[in-house]
Amino acid sequence: MSESFRPETILIHGARRANPTSSVAVPIFQTSTYRLASTRAGAEFQQAVEPTEYYTRWGNPTTHALEVQFAALERAEAALAFSSGMGAVATAILADLKQGDHIVAGSPLYAGTTELCLHILPRFGIETTFVDPTVSANFERALRPTTRIIYIETPSNPTLSLTDLAAVAKLAQSRDLVSICDNTFATPLGHRPLESGITAVVHSATKYIGGHSDVTAGLLAGPRAVIEKCWQFAKLTGPAIDPFASWLLLRGLKTLAVRFERQSATALALARFLEEHSAVARVHYPGLNSHPQHELARRQMHTFGAMLSFELKGGYRLAQRFAESLTLALLAVSLGGTETLVSHPASMSHGLLSEEERKRTGINEGLVRVSVGLEPAEDLIADFRQALAAARS
Ligand SMILES: *Cc1c(COP(=O)(O)O)cnc(C)c1O
Repeated sequence: MSESFRPETILIHGARRANPTSSVAVPIFQTSTYRLASTRAGAEFQQAVEPTEYYTRWGNPTTHALEVQFAALERAEAALAFSSGMGAVATAILADLKQGDHIVAGSPLYAGTTELCLHILPRFGIETTFVDPTVSANFERALRPTTRIIYIETPSNPTLSLTDLAAVAKLAQSRDLVSICDNTFATPLGHRPLESGITAVVHSATKYIGGHSDVTAGLLAGPRAVIEKCWQFAKLTGPAIDPFASWLLLRGLKTLAVRFERQSATALALARFLEEHSAVARVHYPGLNSHPQHELARRQMHTFGAMLSFELKGGYRLAQRFAESLTLALLAVSLGGTETLVSHPASMSHGLLSEEERKRTGINEGLVRVSVGLEPAEDLIADFRQALAAARS
């Protein structure tokens, strides 16, 4: 796809040039292995990088079409698909690190990423320093001679705080560091961090890219050299995506723009409703004037997205009662699907973090996170209104 096409066009046509057949929909190459022309060809594949027709842990034509399309979407040289978002996150972090290396990370992050940095990486001698990412200078202050990666997530989960992409990219470039951004919440329609100079992006494609709560997958996009290194690592650690999952992502991408635009518009309407409600202490949504980084959001985001969170005045019990009183929105972890999902981070996704870690990251007990789906705003607001009333009664 030509660079000049809009992202919305790449969503429709971006996989075409990597489709080895003339079918309009990319076929599912549901095979684990491929017929080789000779033993010599088999030997040559041992030296190959990302071959698409050798063995599906190494590559697959359906997955390749997805990777080509996704790279174009993120304005990257190359991309790599995984069986989960954590597969992409762990590979992006580990593929290039060794014992003694150091990471500086914005906080909060997706809870799985935080746990990886706190509980797994130290066993291999890799330390992480977490900083408040809303103050860009914090990243530079935390650097050590051994720092190799700056890792960020914007907007962040679940407090919707933002990181200044251009500031982090500039710092990383000036120190010859790799910068990685988890772009799950914003999607490539919200922003494309590589355009700001970030080295690589990771995604939980389980969320908006798949878009229908029916597939678990991850994506990574960046410079070819980084992707190759990650492929070498993933080929041996094994988070390979299944061809059918790749096909579901190709299908999901086609409607990403219409879904995301509608969900974002509904999110703004819901955020405004919640902001006016007497049971609500605070609403976190980058599209609201009251968001402390609204100016940055306007500067770096094309769309403010469909994730929001809010704090209930009654704390833990009220938040739980509210979540359990909803009739349309579903109480569930995950996000980015067609159904509105609500979660209570203090008891669910971030329940494994210590009290202190939750405090440091602003995940208080009355916080409720919402992934806005495709229901009409009127029906959704009515459901939230009745659940707020039921929680207080
Ligand atoms: C869900 C999520 C992940 C992990 O992705 P999985 O597909 O569940 O492995 C990583 N980052 C963010 C921001 C997420 O929301």
